[in-house]
Amino acid sequence: METNTLLQIAKDFGSPVYVYNAEKMNSQYKRLTDAFSKVKQLRLNYAAKALSNISVLKLFNSLGAGLDTVSIQEVKLGLTAGFEPSKIIYTPNGVSLEEIETAAKLGVQINIDNLSILEQFGTKHPKVPVCIRINPHVMAGGNSNISVGHIDSKFGISIHQIPHILRIVENTKMNINGIHMHTGSDILDIDVFLYASEILFETAKNFENLEFIDFGSGFKVPYKAGDIETNIEELGTKLTKRFNQFCKEYGKELTLAFEPGKFLVSEAGYFLTKVNVVKQTTSTVFAQVDSG
Ligand SMILES: *Cc1c(COP(=O)(O)O)cnc(C)c1O
Repeated sequence: METNTLLQIAKDFGSPVYVYNAEKMNSQYKRLTDAFSKVKQLRLNYAAKALSNISVLKLFNSLGAGLDTVSIQEVKLGLTAGFEPSKIIYTPNGVSLEEIETAAKLGVQINIDNLSILEQFGTKHPKVPVCIRINPHVMAGGNSNISVGHIDSKFGISIHQIPHILRIVENTKMNINGIHMHTGSDILDIDVFLYASEILFETAKNFENLEFIDFGSGFKVPYKAGDIETNIEELGTKLTKRFNQFCKEYGKELTLAFEPGKFLVSEAGYFLTKVNVVKQTTSTVFAQVDSG
């Protein structure tokens, strides 16, 4: 945004103040839908944790996005913002069975990431469609703190445990309607991402009633001018081709889902604060601001 516009906002509304640029969110959303325009059914679930401001949630709802949530509070916030329950996916990690049952009662898509809850939930509610979060064990991502695909990660069910998953599904007769992964936060190497996708496709073949495959997120955004970012257009071309081919093999048109957070909002936010005092000591100059 123009500096003058921002200064005017600070004058009109006072400081400190957060400013969000809906146009930028719009254009980022459009960049993604354009990159995947050749996919018949695309679904972008905005990851609420990136910025859970209710007006931002309403904006993404109005653009046609779904919502990716990781807590029951985010689920309720999404419903308050106007999202249809069916357009909310709930991907918790380590929460109680009761919380997942609460979410299921609200009608949102459940995404389960451990064998114990999968078995308990499937036994009690075999009719409720469930997505399964897989850990493909692919080391993607910018640093090890945000790479959630590695072998000792707490996220997802290991691909080495697929026989266990299949036994639970068979025993409970539960309905698996989606397969999901979210491998990390900074994907720069598209071939690594496509490699993880192959593991997801391979897993998907085990389930007959799928409606969607969710490739998570991890699009790298620039943090400063000239910084590197994920080449969305290249990813779109390559994954679309592979996804459409998979749908043919699978014998059904599936929905391709992503759940971007940072990509949609991180270049659309400003925090304006005013300098109260510039304080010069013998060694340092402090700019002391009104934002605490
Ligand atoms: C954090 C998170 C996302 C969003 O990740 P970004 O890097 O912000 O796009 C998507 N899905 C899940 C399950 C997450 O935890």
